[in-house]
Amino acid sequence: MYEPSLSTEVQFLKGVGPKPAAVMNKAGLVTVEDVLYRLPRRYEDRSSIPLISTLRVGHFATIRGRIRRIDSKPLRGGQVIVRAIVNDGSGSIVLTWFNQPWTKAQLEKSGGDIFAYGQVKDGTSSHEIASPEWEAASDEEAAEWFGKIVPVYPLVEGLSQKTMRRAARSAVAGYLRLVVDPLPKSVREQQGLADLQWAIRQIHQPDDEASRLEARRRLVFEDFFYMQLALAMKRAATQHEIGIPFPVQALLKGQDPGPPLDLPPGTLFTKEERAARAQEPLWDQIHRLLPFALTGAQKRVIQEIWKDMESPHPMNRLVQGDVGSGKTAVAACALLTAVRSGYQASLMAPTEILAEQHYTNLKALLEPVGVRVAMLIGKQGSRERKQASQAVEMGTAEVVVGTHALVQESVKFRRLGLVIVDEQHRFGVLQRKALRDKGFGNPDVLVMTATPIPRTLTMTVYGDLDLSVIDELPPGRKPVKTHWKRSSERMQVYQSVRGLIEEGKQAYFVCPMVSESEKMMAQAAEDLHYRLSNGPLQGLRVGLLHGQMKPREKEEAMLAFRNHQFDALVSTTVIEVGVDVPNASVMVIEDANRFGLSQLHQLRGRVGRGSQQSYCILIADAKMGDARARMDVMVATNDGFRIAEEDLRLRGPGLMAGTAQSGHADFKVGDLLTDGKMLEVARQVAIEVVQKDPKLSGPEWKRVLENVRKARSEAGIITVS
Ligand code: ADP
Ligand code: MG
Repeated sequence: MYEPSLSTEVQFLKGVGPKPAAVMNKAGLVTVEDVLYRLPRRYEDRSSIPLISTLRVGHFATIRGRIRRIDSKPLRGGQVIVRAIVNDGSGSIVLTWFNQPWTKAQLEKSGGDIFAYGQVKDGTSSHEIASPEWEAASDEEAAEWFGKIVPVYPLVEGLSQKTMRRAARSAVAGYLRLVVDPLPKSVREQQGLADLQWAIRQIHQPDDEASRLEARRRLVFEDFFYMQLALAMKRAATQHEIGIPFPVQALLKGQDPGPPLDLPPGTLFTKEERAARAQEPLWDQIHRLLPFALTGAQKRVIQEIWKDMESPHPMNRLVQGDVGSGKTAVAACALLTAVRSGYQASLMAPTEILAEQHYTNLKALLEPVGVRVAMLIGKQGSRERKQASQAVEMGTAEVVVGTHALVQESVKFRRLGLVIVDEQHRFGVLQRKALRDKGFGNPDVLVMTATPIPRTLTMTVYGDLDLSVIDELPPGRKPVKTHWKRSSERMQVYQSVRGLIEEGKQAYFVCPMVSESEKMMAQAAEDLHYRLSNGPLQGLRVGLLHGQMKPREKEEAMLAFRNHQFDALVSTTVIEVGVDVPNASVMVIEDANRFGLSQLHQLRGRVGRGSQQSYCILIADAKMGDARARMDVMVATNDGFRIAEEDLRLRGPGLMAGTAQSGHADFKVGDLLTDGKMLEVARQVAIEVVQKDPKLSGPEWKRVLENVRKARSEAGIITVS
């Protein structure tokens, strides 16, 4: 005899059997526990059974009555319609089943007394219900599915609602008693959370709506709680690490910050060098170097960063700001602070083009005050590359800009004190860690992301980081005007862009996303470039940029565009992140329906960076609801956070940029769109718990800890514990 346990296979559930079990396995339902936690997608309230004479069109209703007549009629094309007339003494209704000829025999066998559920429609002579769910009233299961609130489960092909209900029912009946509540009583009582066994039963077989909601609340809390505990523990662990206390106060006052801590011998700074650097108070220097006044939000975030840098524990901060909010200037201030304190600092960008742009800008900005900037990217020539790595290793390069080439094993820093990762959503958690590991001890880490994501996602994906938000755009920006045009209007679009170019504006043309392959994308760009420069843009200076070009060529193309030697730049999505050419004010996106919302928002963010009016033209034949919705959102708003919310709504959290590979957003019960409040609560409780018991070593946490470990590995959170 086998011992029933939560890991018993589904085929042993009453009413399931091996064949449906195989289908269930494929749908991720392997054990009884999986079934208990497979939540209904929705519910049908069948708790009151109205008289047939009182039914109203459009309503969903359960009826009970006797079959008066059954017939089946062939239709054109070899299809069949089965009809049954059912009467309950108050009136009659017609039930119809389209192309399910077997229903006739089943109805005939039913004994005549049946329950049925579905939406009431207007029929020819009386009301009708098309394709109702039904059961013979004599069937012992009938009582289960009628006369109460009935669960409707998510299904896969080959798995029927009936089988799934049976499985869930027998799991609850036979195995629920084996479920042990992992939450300590203290947490449950403090939060007024229901008992777990009760909650699972109510989720599958709710007594009423209030009980169902209470049950759900309990399960959602638990779902979020483990993830938040994992994140809180990770944060707590870094808060105990020893980092570099950067001498920010001294720098602000223009005093000698003293030598860097514990450096290996051969530090490059002589006393004189240090003194030369120390002279100008940091704010004064920043104001002098930057060509614009910082916004209030930028200043606030810089101060938040400084506070972390001063602290003896390593910084782990996320700077979030919509496209164009000026994250680069904030990064530059942090880099300067680290260098003036005597450390190296690095900035990792997701693409070579972006790394090159940061390199050019930072050189122009920081070299006048003697900061030495170097670049490390994958496709560099070997001589260049070697020179740069040597400078990094010797410490003569103080600011090092690069792509993921920075995290390669051969790259060694002399005294890396600050790591900045730009456009984080392109990098995995692991790359962030790899760069951090190159640091001197525990370097400070700053992550910058331009993809605004809803706060609920921030709390999960980046929940281990402290958050700064740049919630203000530099002054004088005009919102980008966005238009959606069909492909039949393409020529008019080209003509009007030509007109704008002739007024002195510069335009991007982003070619359609034809495939994932860089090579095919390059061909598409070349093709569009050819068509435009020999057609609608003839006589204008049209540049080309794609991922297959050599780094030198890319750099030259970008530079020429920046210097207004090109009127238009035809490009693949390589310009998507970070590229900054303030004079460019027109963005044409071909086949825009092929892009996701956050990608469109990023692309549009390439214009609207100067003070002139900018335009974004989406060329798309968006017939599908989803594509239409995306175009409509783009036309309606420039607000990155609103777009992110819409993106989450349209695609679901699992597919949001950067989270797909991480699995962070996969909650069994919780819904990041609607359960934001509960997420806050779970986060708060998690923080309090971890403050009291950073490693959850108390006995009451034993089961919770197991679940936290699972949540942690699913989320790719690496913790020292
Ligand atoms: P993002 O946050 O998208 O990375 P950038 O750092 O590229 O934004 O900045 C966008 C543009 O705004 C750049 O051209 C930059 O020089 C400019 N900029 C940044 N901060 C300010 C400011 N405070 N005042 C005026 N222009 C600014
Ligand atoms: Mg940027």
